Amino acid sequence: MQMGGYNIRCSECGEYYRKDDPHECDPEKLAGHEINKLDGELKKWLATKEGEFAVYYAERRRSEYMEQLALEIPAGGVGSSGVSGGEEAKDQEGQAEGLRR
Ligand SMILES: [Zn+2]
Repeated sequence: MQMGGYNIRCSECGEYYRKDDPHECDPEKLAGHEINKLDGELKKWLATKEGEFAVYYAERRRSEYMEQLALEIPAGGVGSSGVSGGEEAKDQEGQAEGLRR
């Protein structure tokens, strides 16, 4: 048994379609295919000396950035549940004050 017969591959979007079907590129598929192509080009570029250096440089910048972040965030951390709890308590205080007035 033959399955479907989607024997033509669109060079624009990479979709398979039947010879007797009118094919229109699906914009989402088209975008995905473009990204895949770019991805391939990026990988090729990363294999070059220039690409290798870019990766090394980005990695160095990233670790510098992470070190900086570590210095900026005080011990105990930001965004712990204690902080949001404090905010809530303040809100309730404000409401209580509003009632008193
Ligand atoms: Zn297409």
